[in-house]
Amino acid sequence: MLYKSLCKAGVLLLVSSCNSINAEQKRPNIIWIFSDDHSYQTIGAYGDRFAHLNPTPNIDRIANEGIRFDRCYVGNSISAPSRATLLTGLHSHMNGKINNQVPFNHDQQQFQKILQQSGYQTAMIGKIHLDGKMQGFDYWEVLPGQGDYYNPVFITDTGTHKVNGYVTDIITDKSLDWLENKRDKNKPFMLMIHHKAPHRTWIPAERHRNKYEGVDFPEPANLFDDYATRTTAAQKQDMSIDETMTLNRDLKLGDKFGGPAGMYDNRKEWFEKNKPAGKELVRWKYQAYIQDFLQCIWAIDENVGRVLDYLEENGLDKNTIVMYASDQGFYMGEHGWFDKRFMYEESFRTPLLARWPGHIKPGTVNTDLVQNIDFAETFLELADAEIPKDMQGKSLVPLLKGKTPANWRKSLYYHYYEYPGVHNVRRNEGVRNTRYKLIRFYGKDVPGGEEWELYDLENDPSEMKNLYGDKNYAKIEKSLKAELQKLRKKYKVDKVSL
Ligand code: CA
Repeated sequence: MLYKSLCKAGVLLLVSSCNSINAEQKRPNIIWIFSDDHSYQTIGAYGDRFAHLNPTPNIDRIANEGIRFDRCYVGNSISAPSRATLLTGLHSHMNGKINNQVPFNHDQQQFQKILQQSGYQTAMIGKIHLDGKMQGFDYWEVLPGQGDYYNPVFITDTGTHKVNGYVTDIITDKSLDWLENKRDKNKPFMLMIHHKAPHRTWIPAERHRNKYEGVDFPEPANLFDDYATRTTAAQKQDMSIDETMTLNRDLKLGDKFGGPAGMYDNRKEWFEKNKPAGKELVRWKYQAYIQDFLQCIWAIDENVGRVLDYLEENGLDKNTIVMYASDQGFYMGEHGWFDKRFMYEESFRTPLLARWPGHIKPGTVNTDLVQNIDFAETFLELADAEIPKDMQGKSLVPLLKGKTPANWRKSLYYHYYEYPGVHNVRRNEGVRNTRYKLIRFYGKDVPGGEEWELYDLENDPSEMKNLYGDKNYAKIEKSLKAELQKLRKKYKVDKVSL
């Protein structure tokens, strides 16, 4: 019988409390490592175009010794809404956090509150990007808003304090300190290690600053995308390397870039001397951007390694599931862009890796459609805790074990709301199945009130040819529109006016 059923039935009243038998029950510890804007393209295990230049041996260890999800997606590709979904198991319109600006209601149901009630010790350290006091965590230390790369401030239940050093190292120091000194070692735990990196403006640790001097990064084929066949949204966005990315702040040619003085003197000198212009300037910006981004990943990877090593050295590795993900994907120059927000693959998709010795077969690759609404229910099933019926995802535990249920979902729903807003990406919602994607842009500044795009991802994985209105795809278009309506109903999108 399940632990929770025994507790409910009062069978465990014979012992002092349900919690006291945790040690024997061996419910797994959970370590959730969450980075900010970490694209799957920049994780070695995903084998994308940077794999030979961007070794991530420690992150890859999770994939090699466990599972790699190749079709993990978010419901709304932006920071705070993605985090609200992580905690609530609900799409944005249901948890209310539709964009980075509206407040998050901390009083609502969140998975960590249920874990706590079921005897887990819970901790959150790093970036959560949800203003207000955290609830359901026995221990929490979070960055205010976006946080700083160097000498960051942390908020706790009792106030704020500043720590000198580099943020990725500090978040890991604090996490290891909690594991070693602050937790109750008789209870199973859930520790969320949330990195700020590699968020814009991609400032690396000083020790990694010159990792890529002289390296030429491969460009995506659509770095100079002209957005032909696409709708207004792609043409009018404000997130291009060419026009939006700044030389002084993003690429650190100015003095106030947020890191130690002198760190970018070599780049400044080169730029002053060579003064690239036109397409050459775009190419140079792309190279500098990728260089900085990957340098940030080095610190994340090293720090993932510190956590894995700690678990092994302390005999915790066998009964701890370690998961690695990002709050959404990111453009590494595809379509000429950085940032996220669109339903196109690079920002819609996010990495997800997990290692759980004895339960996940090493080297597993999963291609089922999974989404960030699934994370909360996964944590709850791992902890053998009750899963509330109103959560909107599905537990990934059967998938982790290589046993995808026959009725697993065949399509995903997406909805981005932050318009008008920074980067000027129109509201977009849509549906994706294993082969096709239908996107509807709507609202203010969309000609006629709405515009549609349709992609055949098998023939056009880079989403360069909008097939909406193409007679050969009329049937597919119709069935995707029906599927979109079905998903809107299933997830109660029409019940909320936003
Ligand atoms: Ca993010």
